[in-house]
Amino acid sequence: MEYEVVIGLETHIELDTDSKMFCACDARFFGAEPNTHVCPVCLGMPGAMPVINKRAVEFTIMVGLALNCSIARHTFWERKSYWYPDLPKGYQISQYQRPLCYDGWIDVDVRDVASGVWQEQAERRRIRIRRAHLEEDTGKLTHAGAYSYVDYNRSGVPLIEIVTEPDIRSADEAYAYLSALQQIVRYLGVSSADMEKGAMRCEPNMSLRPKGSQDFGVKVEIKNLNSLRAVRDAIAYEIERQTRILRAGGTIKQVTLGWDEARGVTVVQREKESAHDYRYFPEPDLPPLEISEAWLEAIRARMPELALSRQDRYRRDYGLSAYDASVLTAERAVADWFESALAAFAADDGRLAQRAKTVANWVQTEVFRLMKANGLSPSQINDIKVRPAQLADLLRLVEQGTINNNTAKFVLEDMFATGANAAEIVQAKGLAQMSDVEALRQIVNQVIAANPQQVAQVRAGQEKVFGFLVGQAMKATKGKGNAQIINQLLREAIAAADDLPAQG
Ligand SMILES: [Zn+2]
Repeated sequence: MEYEVVIGLETHIELDTDSKMFCACDARFFGAEPNTHVCPVCLGMPGAMPVINKRAVEFTIMVGLALNCSIARHTFWERKSYWYPDLPKGYQISQYQRPLCYDGWIDVDVRDVASGVWQEQAERRRIRIRRAHLEEDTGKLTHAGAYSYVDYNRSGVPLIEIVTEPDIRSADEAYAYLSALQQIVRYLGVSSADMEKGAMRCEPNMSLRPKGSQDFGVKVEIKNLNSLRAVRDAIAYEIERQTRILRAGGTIKQVTLGWDEARGVTVVQREKESAHDYRYFPEPDLPPLEISEAWLEAIRARMPELALSRQDRYRRDYGLSAYDASVLTAERAVADWFESALAAFAADDGRLAQRAKTVANWVQTEVFRLMKANGLSPSQINDIKVRPAQLADLLRLVEQGTINNNTAKFVLEDMFATGANAAEIVQAKGLAQMSDVEALRQIVNQVIAANPQQVAQVRAGQEKVFGFLVGQAMKATKGKGNAQIINQLLREAIAAADDLPAQG
């Protein structure tokens, strides 16, 4: 029998605000000494009063808009009660009945990532978002032998919980969804979404059912996934394991699983528990949250164009490949830089696509190569000394024939090191191409006169030898000759040589 997997993803993303969700403590705690970013509010002291972090609400609305969600205009906070040592109040302030964002969707391009081979064609899938609400993070427990240590630095850090409908049908789709989500929150600048640092945490729930069935099978949950690849691998492993059991006539147990990265297997963490009863009730210390139309519109006006929309635009308007569009939009900083350079290079001459391809190539090869050699990742493109308009100036010099491509690469290296403009470098170092036809004709005539045997060979059809003659002429110009003009002049001179008496 063929089985189909049904996957829903619950993702928690820490918001990159200055202060915590309900107090003034510094929310950027990573690497800090334990329990140094705490106060009576986030330690849950009796009588301490929470205050809503406005920016965290804005960030959540931005995420909601990016996920095509409806935004609740009137919502409120609830206490989710449970007891665990990482939760000093004994409850978490969250949203249950009325999430801030609900009923959304995102489109994702699904590719087979495990193959390691780029697929130009992708399947576009729409994943529905059930809800995205705002809550506070818990503290962190570290277990060591007979002891457990608790660190409340993370307690009260703003956290978005994003829940999909069970729309995901493969490990690759889960990977594509999470990559897209990570990219969206990074584009919005609301979170680092770094899974290794716990800023983005994902718990897939999944079940298998006979293909074509509308019922749901027995659900398992997977935890401890700290990379996109781990999510993909764990789901792929579970699909295989459960298919094997079902085909052999066995049954799946409802369990919570962990992912053992080193061994590449899931391990049972907990057997089925009785359903949680969190006893939600309204938070009496906080007013309801009212989102005015004006506030919502102001947030909407600040929304950047997101990666997938840019990819589609680059392909449609510039004719770029899916690969180029994907590389250029992977980081918002790179996409913005590329678009600035193109805007500066563009002219009203109907050659936009050609210029876009030129800028795309230079960014992806030469600019990235120089950045890598200097220990910079693509996201740090705004730290380099070359401004987008300066790359445009360099490319214009190539287009106008002032310098050739190889010289331009050399000039860019200089620009990268010094921040100087291309034209200054070309002038200071005497790099301009020789394009004076009369001067080049003299050189070509000298080459023809000095190499009668090679000229005869070209006339006899040995086209390879033509390259030798071009090389000789280039050498005479110290590499600065305009190759296009030299080629043309050489052709003319060799054709004219037909009329001369053959030399012995
Ligand atoms: Zn605090």
